[in-house]
Amino acid sequence: MNESVLEKLKILVESAKYDVSCASSGTSRSHKKGNIGSAAGWGICHSFAEDGRCISLLKIMLTNYCIYDCAYCINRRSNDIQRATLSVTELVNLTIEFYRRNYIEGLFLSSGVVRNPDYTMERLVRVIKDLRLVYRFNGYIHMKSIPGASPELVNEAGLYADRLSVNIEIPNEKSLQMLAPEKNFQSVFTPMRYIQQGVLQSAEERKRFRSAPRFAPAGQSTQMIVGATADTDKDILHLSSALYQRPTMKRVYYSGFIPVNSYDNRLPALKQPPLVRENRLYQADWLLRFYQFKVDEIVNDAYPDLDLEIDPKLSWALRHPEAFPVDINRADYEMLLRVPGIGVKSAKIIIVSRRYSNLGAEQLKKIGVVMKKAQYFITCRELPMQTIHEVSPDAVRRLFIKKTGRNVDERQLVLQFED
Ligand code: SF4
Repeated sequence: MNESVLEKLKILVESAKYDVSCASSGTSRSHKKGNIGSAAGWGICHSFAEDGRCISLLKIMLTNYCIYDCAYCINRRSNDIQRATLSVTELVNLTIEFYRRNYIEGLFLSSGVVRNPDYTMERLVRVIKDLRLVYRFNGYIHMKSIPGASPELVNEAGLYADRLSVNIEIPNEKSLQMLAPEKNFQSVFTPMRYIQQGVLQSAEERKRFRSAPRFAPAGQSTQMIVGATADTDKDILHLSSALYQRPTMKRVYYSGFIPVNSYDNRLPALKQPPLVRENRLYQADWLLRFYQFKVDEIVNDAYPDLDLEIDPKLSWALRHPEAFPVDINRADYEMLLRVPGIGVKSAKIIIVSRRYSNLGAEQLKKIGVVMKKAQYFITCRELPMQTIHEVSPDAVRRLFIKKTGRNVDERQLVLQFED
């Protein structure tokens, strides 16, 4: 790889790292003498395929020049940072070279806006088109669609990308226009609509002709920045819930606001990104997508923000003691899912296993139920234990805050969903 491309690569993967809408990012752990590997600077992130397979992606921008001046972005035009642009050929060769060396299995491609949205989008499309048609690249491609790009270019992108995404960034139009004056909801939602139309139309055509081309088969995703504005978790989750009603929206990503432009007084002065809040939003998002919760049950006028001390499912259960205890041997699937300590997998196994015998605490443990949590919310074959009614919701809450024994900063590292 020649020196100039290497230099551009360093700049452009660094610029791309703040976009979390493909998955892991923002890690700053660099190489240490005597150790193998480094988590910083080289722009390889991981995404998960529909079958659960983890795929490594080259996460890079075509250019970090930008004509826009979004207050929250490191690449905004008013920042004095190192800039670089890869040509279409350089980016294609780089991807193929990394793929052949087995460094990556796919590409996550984004870009700053140069000249105008269509000019930029056209170059992005040329990259993925060359990869597919010239190099027969069959790996995963996630491409960011540029807000304001024309429908023809979005339609062409959908023929070569597995997933397309347009970032909303700010969940409220007024705040978006204050922080990103060149953007508005229309410039974000219009390309989302084009993508949706493309996916649905291609699905229809494929019903009639099996050889009809597929359009963005992995659907679309988006990202919202958390903590850059006064928007509550209710505002954020209501928007996510509405987006999930759209048939092609697969994932909403939440990115704790990183104050990269601390000089801009339109932004809050945060010492560190609100990672605990980001984690709680992911857990709430999980409840919407897999646990059959309605958004109003998680956040509403009385509880506009998620509890940072406990996960949203436990928080809901403590606010609704009247729904418990749940009889494990009789409750329907939906109610089992609401029990803290019972996940989707455990609920399914319970439904099958109880056909053969009444389940008790020992079996539930074997099934994978987290009994130290579930015990306050269930009855099973044994007599009820100390349920939430004997212990009181407040006492259970205190017990869990004490049990986790972690302060808020440490808990930001607990990224898995707590059933
Ligand atoms: S358009 Fe994108 S790259 Fe340009 S300043 Fe805004 S967020 Fe940054």
